[in-house]
Amino acid sequence: MNIFHLRFVIIFASIFIAAFSIYLMFCAWPLPQPQPLTMDLPAASPPKEMAVFKIMTGVNHRSAAFGYRGGSFFDKRDFTMDVLLIKHPKGDLLIDAGLGRDSRVHFKSLPWYFRAITDFDPGRSAADQLKDVGYDEDSLKGILLTHTHWDHVSGIPDFNKTPVWINKEERHFINDGKQLTALIRSFPNVQYKEYAFTDTPYLNFPKSYDVYGDGAIVIVPAPGHTPGSVVIFIALPSGERLAMIGDLAWQQEGVLEREERPWPQRTMGDDNPEQVRENLLRMAAIANRFPQITIVPAHDARGFDKVPDITKIKMKQ
Ligand SMILES: [Zn+2]
Ligand SMILES: [Zn+2]
Repeated sequence: MNIFHLRFVIIFASIFIAAFSIYLMFCAWPLPQPQPLTMDLPAASPPKEMAVFKIMTGVNHRSAAFGYRGGSFFDKRDFTMDVLLIKHPKGDLLIDAGLGRDSRVHFKSLPWYFRAITDFDPGRSAADQLKDVGYDEDSLKGILLTHTHWDHVSGIPDFNKTPVWINKEERHFINDGKQLTALIRSFPNVQYKEYAFTDTPYLNFPKSYDVYGDGAIVIVPAPGHTPGSVVIFIALPSGERLAMIGDLAWQQEGVLEREERPWPQRTMGDDNPEQVRENLLRMAAIANRFPQITIVPAHDARGFDKVPDITKIKMKQ
């Protein structure tokens, strides 16, 4: 073989190895089926006045391949930045704050490599959308965070009177999360309200916190994406159930097809990918046993399909 042929073989082999590595990172690779659950759906007695509304605060232009293994690069998807308003007679809650009025400025707090792969369009902030419909901010008891990444906290400064509900693990992560939590660290005068889990299991999660004691809003720890990430189970008076999984998966396929994020995304975005796997499988077992529970990732508009938009809210005169 002469030197020309040798070079050709080396170049060809390098291209092949690179293409095969990319294929291995992004190809479908479902996690094993979890043990089936046998328990019943936990009882809940949500008050009849309880209701939920979605507030979409912007979109991130992505592809399915970005979100989960086996997703196609050609399947272009807008990953939405969603907030949920829960109206409850004991006090309303927002789940996450979404992109706020200053999200363009907030974006600059992110690591360069994340900015380089992010193409987002902010919409109207949650605070402005609530104002548009005449919502009284005093009814808001707290902003309950699924976790403290920028796209879930950017709207916090727009609510200057509302406490931010958080658990101990995520509170520590604000200080330990380096650039990934630089944004929330930079907010002055955030009023934190720390809640704690009890040893009461909920479904197949070992700990839980039942916010109003009626089973309507139950938080469970689901660490991995960040150390204090949570899943919030919601039971509505209509009998509907939602599982707000935050960024445990970015798209429903993460749970329903048991596909974790591709290697680059979980390396950059997940604090502990092993724990993410464990909790994806916990949620997959729940989805298998209780298909009536809608799996709602924070960035997947399909999960919010049945949730009315904030513009549909009826205010008391
Ligand atoms: Zn996140
Ligand atoms: Zn997110």
